[in-house]
Amino acid sequence: MQLLTDAQHKRNHTRFFFLRYLYLGGIAYRFGIIDLANWAWDQLGHILKSAKQLVIAKWDKSMMLRMLAHYDAILKSKRDVAFEIFAFFRLILSVSTHDRPLVSQTQPNIDTCVLLYKELPLLAEPVRGLILGCTFVVILSLGHHSSVWKEFTRDQRSTLYAAQAHLVFLRDNQHLDLGWLQDPKKSKILGLACSDCSKRLDSAWRVSFGLCGALNSRIPLEDVSNIARLPQCRQIFAENIRYNPTQLCKKDCNEIILRVIDENLNGLFQEQLPAAYNQFAE
Ligand SMILES: [Zn+2]
Repeated sequence: MQLLTDAQHKRNHTRFFFLRYLYLGGIAYRFGIIDLANWAWDQLGHILKSAKQLVIAKWDKSMMLRMLAHYDAILKSKRDVAFEIFAFFRLILSVSTHDRPLVSQTQPNIDTCVLLYKELPLLAEPVRGLILGCTFVVILSLGHHSSVWKEFTRDQRSTLYAAQAHLVFLRDNQHLDLGWLQDPKKSKILGLACSDCSKRLDSAWRVSFGLCGALNSRIPLEDVSNIARLPQCRQIFAENIRYNPTQLCKKDCNEIILRVIDENLNGLFQEQLPAAYNQFAE
């Protein structure tokens, strides 16, 4: 009986409970008990309300792979939860960049990020595609002086050098669609808010995604670093707009806008960054 309500309590928003529901969902799905799988995945959504605290825990490679093991199935039946899981996955990797507006701890999962990146050739789609963009941009952002780059083969480093040279002035980059980030009103993201929410969402944007600036730097890796920390901006934005009952409107602007942001981030990390990477690797 306790298992039914554990995820509702903030004190249980721990890595232990997260892994327990993840395991339960995976087993239930494998045995075709879809209702139970859906229920377990819903519990993950509750626990991820504490993503900021969870992200500084140690997440090893097998935990990260398990997080994505049934991603497509979760996406089909629990789209919002799938978006939250993938946002959390990206967040764990993102706090390994130099620039960490969200946490003060030092790169708790950089080793995991490197291991996942090295494992890419062995992984099948769609998992490979889910991991490639998130790990590539974090490792790239660390720069060629970092000890991390020294762990890779010559070919892998050549890809990173090519990416470093080409991924500047990202505002006009042919691979990446970043218009929504540059002008959120024109791209209709913030324009979706009702008149009651508009001002509040504008100010939440300013202290999160607004930190990315104009993305027009010619200095190598400056714009890339901003892209690498986007998952942290998403977390800061989500915390700003959620979990305060006085900030809920009838149109549910918070969740509508966050889903549109997630769709843009998913496109960037799942499609555009992997496509750019594949070109640099040729
Ligand atoms: Zn509203």
